Amino acid sequence: METSTTPSTRVQYQDKEYNVIKEGLAHILNPPAQEAASKGTKRDLKEDDESQSVFYNPIQQFNRDLSVLAIRAFGEHAVDVRKQKVDRRNKKSAGKNEKGPAGKRKREDDTEESPAPKRVEGENGEKSEVESEVTVQPAKENPEGENGSKPETTAQQPAPAAEEKDSMVFTVLDALSATGLRALRYASELPMVSKVVANDLSSSAIKSMKTNIEYNKLEDRIKPNLGDARVYMYGLSGVEKFDVIDLDPYGTAAPFLDAAVQGVKDGGLLCVTCTDASIWASTGYSEKSFSLYGGIPIKGHHSHEGGLRLILNSVAMSASKYGFAIEPLLSLSIDFYARVFVRVYRSPAQVKFLGANSMVVYNCDSGCGAWSTQPLASLRKKLDRKGNPLYHHGLAQGPVSGSNCEHCGFKTHLAGPMWAGPLHNPHFIQKILATLPKLDSQTYQTIPRIEGMLTTALEEDLDLTPPTTSSTTSSETPKADDTQSAEYPAIIPRQDPALHEPHPFYLNLSALSKVMHCSTVPLDEFRGALHSIGYRSTRSHAKPNAMRTDAPFSVIWEVMREWIRQESPIKETSLKPGTAGAVIMAKSRDNLRKLDDKDQWLSLLKTDLLAAVESGRDITDLVTKVEASLYRSGSRQAWKPSAGSSETQSEPQPQPSAENESQSSSAKDKSAHPSSLEIKFDPALGRAASAAHSKKRLVRYQINPRANWGPLNRASVTQ
Ligand SMILES: [Zn+2]
Repeated sequence: METSTTPSTRVQYQDKEYNVIKEGLAHILNPPAQEAASKGTKRDLKEDDESQSVFYNPIQQFNRDLSVLAIRAFGEHAVDVRKQKVDRRNKKSAGKNEKGPAGKRKREDDTEESPAPKRVEGENGEKSEVESEVTVQPAKENPEGENGSKPETTAQQPAPAAEEKDSMVFTVLDALSATGLRALRYASELPMVSKVVANDLSSSAIKSMKTNIEYNKLEDRIKPNLGDARVYMYGLSGVEKFDVIDLDPYGTAAPFLDAAVQGVKDGGLLCVTCTDASIWASTGYSEKSFSLYGGIPIKGHHSHEGGLRLILNSVAMSASKYGFAIEPLLSLSIDFYARVFVRVYRSPAQVKFLGANSMVVYNCDSGCGAWSTQPLASLRKKLDRKGNPLYHHGLAQGPVSGSNCEHCGFKTHLAGPMWAGPLHNPHFIQKILATLPKLDSQTYQTIPRIEGMLTTALEEDLDLTPPTTSSTTSSETPKADDTQSAEYPAIIPRQDPALHEPHPFYLNLSALSKVMHCSTVPLDEFRGALHSIGYRSTRSHAKPNAMRTDAPFSVIWEVMREWIRQESPIKETSLKPGTAGAVIMAKSRDNLRKLDDKDQWLSLLKTDLLAAVESGRDITDLVTKVEASLYRSGSRQAWKPSAGSSETQSEPQPQPSAENESQSSSAKDKSAHPSSLEIKFDPALGRAASAAHSKKRLVRYQINPRANWGPLNRASVTQ
């Protein structure tokens, strides 16, 4: 792995011997005792050795490299935002005589950074929104002066230097710093960082941290702080708040979120790691997940993505109490942990969107694996006379689905509440990607993995497929503001807070095939089939052989039935009666024709009930299975093509694919019953869709603007 190449040399420093490990541009002193620890012989350590040993975890190098690059992209954004503010202030004072102060202030709201809803309905929301844009005031009296260069271990940090326009102040808090390795890397690799505070609860950690800071000659930029991270973050006054707070605990970050959202500046960045995947990505400890994150995890192949959404919802709920809204910039599930980068804004108006951006999920985890989502609040959008969006926040309708899965009849389980908005801001990802070619691959050894992950994370955006003119539903809600300012190119545009993700999880193709007991559908074939009937699809970052699509499950299962009928026949006996696969297969085109006959319908019910009785393990199991078969029987009439349109109508109207013009003709069949769709398994079509998708990504998120770069018109991207 990338970690094995970490160079290590032996040095004598302050009368002690160390192994020096270089990671990024930072050097970390590793007492020889620690070597034993990392080789797994912890028993050999004497207590004294242990206390001075430095914990270096090479596995987390990817996380640290990624964090450095993410904070760099964010730091460049912050520099440009400040530049923009200073320019505006100067312009304002130059042409003071024209407009009243109130009108001017409004104008300031509409920065490139915040394309967000210009007017949001609400009694006091708008007023607060205006207030929220008031920026941090210049520092109060600062006895230390410009650079208090003494590396003191005090809880009181000197306020940033007074005039922000002259000297750029950009501060980072490494709240759970342990060895200080992250702090060392941020201070040595990020030129815009003016100060890093490295906090830890352990005095021995602070002691070795100090040695490392001195060894790296970073005393003027890193301040160690001994104390409880929460107490420290709660105690920060307005000017002392940080541009970036990094929470990188062993285990969950949940206990620190409330303090962290208050310790970060308006518009600042929170970087949160949670390593307790066994809590948020599996259902073994769902009660613990609820108490830590305020939501129940989801079972199945999409459990990690569900976990990211639980964590994001937890951050959002902590923030919203204080009038802060969050915007996820990048959310990744990596190995055994989750890492999310979230922007935090003071905006009581945007906080109101949280209800509609939270959802519960009905998950068919014991049956076919299908799911349906339920928002916790409704959001209706209207346009005022000038064409600005007006939002009405209201109550959501009761259950969007029955207690049994409509596809296989099995009982569903509830997961959430969880975040229902986008997981990433594509502009942020692209900004990180754009820096990669300029980096030294020796310093950043995990570049290939970062590139791979970010590229697929970017491609998860289904909206990369622009809608054709025939569809108007989704084109009214823009995914993000596409404006890129040529003057301030590093600014990361803010996403529309009203955005929610209607297709939040990915499908696992081997899992689908397992339900049907057939050979696994290759990804290209499956995507080709979906695109042949006008649905969009894209890969997912979290797992291979996984994809996201806007096709409803009624269509997905029809594609699977057609896969079996056309390409990969199975034996009639391979699907046991009463299983999810058998129920789904019973809706095949041939069977639906037979259902017109009433005797056939009764005999199907009889077979189904008999199978349920025979296969029931105990009385509870038996009841479940009989219930499921009665449920199926009752809803069987609705499967018939003549009456079946209700099933498809409940799904949001998908956008037709425009990636391949020749396919747009079939896109009009959306309202038709799935069994009447003409599905073709053409791998070339899947590959073409994939290539077109990547191409659009390159066009849409291009980072270096051309000479006359302006707001990118969606239509112009269409090939
Ligand atoms: Zn099901």
